[in-house]
Amino acid sequence: RFDWSRRVAVVGGTGVAGRAAATALLRRGAAVTVVDRSATAAGEELAAAGAAFVVADTPSPELLAGVTDVVVSPGFPPTHPLVTAAAAAGIEVYSEPELAWRLRGPGAPGWLAVTGTNGKTTTVTMLAAILAAAGRRTAALGNIGTPLVEAAADPAYDVLAVELSSFQLHWSRLLAPQAGALLNLADDHLDWHGSFAAYQEAKTAIWRSAAADGTAVGNLDDPRVAALLRAVAGDRIGVTLRPPQVGDGHVLGVLDGTLVESAPCAAPTPLVEAAAVRPAGAHNVANALHAAALARAAGVPAAAVAAGLRGYTPEPHRNAAVATVAGVRYVDDSKATNPHAAHASLTSYPRVVWVAGGQLKGVDVDPLVAAVAGRLAGAVLLGVDRAAVAAALRRHAPGLPVVEVASVDDGAMDEVVRAAAALAAPGDTVLLAPAAASKDMYSGYPARGRAFAAAVDRLAGRP
Ligand code: ADP
Repeated sequence: RFDWSRRVAVVGGTGVAGRAAATALLRRGAAVTVVDRSATAAGEELAAAGAAFVVADTPSPELLAGVTDVVVSPGFPPTHPLVTAAAAAGIEVYSEPELAWRLRGPGAPGWLAVTGTNGKTTTVTMLAAILAAAGRRTAALGNIGTPLVEAAADPAYDVLAVELSSFQLHWSRLLAPQAGALLNLADDHLDWHGSFAAYQEAKTAIWRSAAADGTAVGNLDDPRVAALLRAVAGDRIGVTLRPPQVGDGHVLGVLDGTLVESAPCAAPTPLVEAAAVRPAGAHNVANALHAAALARAAGVPAAAVAAGLRGYTPEPHRNAAVATVAGVRYVDDSKATNPHAAHASLTSYPRVVWVAGGQLKGVDVDPLVAAVAGRLAGAVLLGVDRAAVAAALRRHAPGLPVVEVASVDDGAMDEVVRAAAALAAPGDTVLLAPAAASKDMYSGYPARGRAFAAAVDRLAGRP
């Protein structure tokens, strides 16, 4: 459909996605300029492969002369000068998944896609497990593993389980997975999108194919998602943690502790018992139901749903049990990088010493603190925005013991874990669910989770 050899592309960012995008474009004969704010090794490599490499924080508008396509990574907000200049010049701006979609050739694998504020990686990895159990050649992709531009053109796959962020969907126009699921919508990345309305609009692009022959899957327990799903014209599957009701249409729900599927006017078909779903927690049952709904939309037999979920290996740093020390359970949910995620994990345990703080990214932590104050035995706060969490705790849990750790060095997590241990009683859970991003202190949430686990090991006297 596109004659790539006639295109002139600018690729913003030389991270994993940008590098893969530039390489794919070069391979198809496009003229490519890559832009990064620093002189990265990937940029140098691309230059050696035939791209022009421009190092600039704010690229000059001349860069866009003759350009037909601008491919951006999530680091580029809609207000970025490169983006606004491209838009003003009528140049198409899109993300790496959109490029991957445009590069697909005949025989390319189908896409089953997942978006939402939280639960994306868990859901696509569950989905890949289900698809594999059904004998489909598949991989979970998006923010993880092989870049999409490579996998999307690879006939070694039948179908891809694709995680799409709000950024990637915002920068898409043609991309239309055969079935797409919207897990939930909560305040996150508002600093990037500018408003909740813009964020919400980006997310509903996941259902683009429903108007044609695709399927829209959405969470009926999330009122905003449910309302958006009802407005979709086309094939829909609703997901709920409640029993499906007659007249609800095609729904996957939970009946007497079993995940079930009900077609309109038919009795529910059992899929798998909820207790088989890991990691524990109602939010993960919801993730499993969305994965199952996508698989069913793609014609996977019900038995493979059960086999896939039973054999699923959870991803690290997502409600992962670290150790039990002196009767206190330590749990690493470092991936809870916003209040909505932290809410899901905090409400999975009865009495919690909460380890929180980091970068709040412009999101208000007050409603979360108000909702969970009653189950807290104490809190230990770290990171750049800890004062905002402390203030919310003073408002909603006056008298709760709260320790603020100001250190930012390698020993900070040891201080945090020792303080949490001192606040916890046997039977409590010390839960790292920061409700905030980690980049103020760590390279990312995995490093933060590893630091927590290592500090727990030292607390337990393990080398
Ligand atoms: P994402 O890829 O969207 O960031 P993950 O699957 O990595 O999501 O999960 C991130 C965190 O979000 C988990 O560690 C957990 O705290 C929380 N979480 C997971 N699934 C859900 C859900 N369905 N609803 C709310 N929070 C969730």
